[in-house]
Amino acid sequence: MSRIRIILNWGASCGGCDVSILDVGRAILDLPESVEILYWPVALDFKRQDLENLPDGSVDVGIINGAVRTAEQEEEARIFRTKCKQIVAYGSCACFGGIPGLANQFTSEELLQRAYFEAPSNVNEEGTMPQPVSGQEGFSLTLPEFLPEVRSLEQVVPVDCYVPGCPPSNSTIMELLGALGSIAAGNAAKKVLASDKALCYDCPRGKTKEAKKAATLYRPHEIIAGSEHCLLEQGIVCLGFATRGGCGARCINVNMPCRGCYGWLPAMSDPGAEAMSAIASITGEWEDYLQPPKIMEVLEAVKDAVGIFYPFSLPSAIINRKRG
Ligand code: SF4
Ligand code: SF4
Ligand code: SF4
Repeated sequence: MSRIRIILNWGASCGGCDVSILDVGRAILDLPESVEILYWPVALDFKRQDLENLPDGSVDVGIINGAVRTAEQEEEARIFRTKCKQIVAYGSCACFGGIPGLANQFTSEELLQRAYFEAPSNVNEEGTMPQPVSGQEGFSLTLPEFLPEVRSLEQVVPVDCYVPGCPPSNSTIMELLGALGSIAAGNAAKKVLASDKALCYDCPRGKTKEAKKAATLYRPHEIIAGSEHCLLEQGIVCLGFATRGGCGARCINVNMPCRGCYGWLPAMSDPGAEAMSAIASITGEWEDYLQPPKIMEVLEAVKDAVGIFYPFSLPSAIINRKRG
């Protein structure tokens, strides 16, 4: 039986997604029996030329993690699309823009100013900024162009399969490895390797029979949450009701709220807006209508609305970036 030909790459990524693949344990040792890895520069000694030398359409599956922030990442995503029959967006950054996508709250100039001059840990009295390197014999480095916004993979090239998670859980990765054959053949059973039902269905916490309201919202460090009841009912913003299941309720099991890394439910168009609306409806005392001072008091507890409601999805949201 011929092996599935795959290539892998990272874009604007923390590296965690590549590590997650290596972290599947013994299964990684069986991989060479079923797949042939033709390009994976972060793990093996491949060069860009190796990617360019592959004939167009000759690769079964291209797996890309990370968002698209630079012109180089955009170009590599387009090359992958040309070389591969099927493209897999791996991890929340590739699927929705992810944590790097939070940079869309700022212009490129503001980001560079912050990174090189304003960050409290910086010592940069001479005002040094990154510069192209040249002049040494046989060596030059061209800086990749910093694009004005972070985009998810599907905002750059068509995607055939989505593997959400920051990073995807072990069971999701095993599902991907098991489905590689059908993905390569273009007849995968699922386009998104996650549940179509909300994480709340997988959550081990007891839910009260009647909808409960939270009198006050807390940030996770402000309260020691009880380990038996729904976090939302305890006043901690948990996005499990708006998030696809499939991770095994990883955060809930360690008493932390879900932040939505498996992506929003199929029927939702703007996850953050829907979550905000839902949180507003369960917040407050038991009166039917909250009075404006109380509304302001509740909103005051949400210190970083974009970070809380769009931590993995800002580039995919309807309002997705600050215009410079
Ligand atoms: S999805 Fe999470 S683990 Fe993967 S590259 Fe993005 S930030 Fe890192
Ligand atoms: S909102 Fe969070 S804590 Fe509550 S049931 Fe859903 S996943 Fe569990
Ligand atoms: S609980 Fe939510 S944020 Fe945590 S891993 Fe699961 S989907 Fe991601």
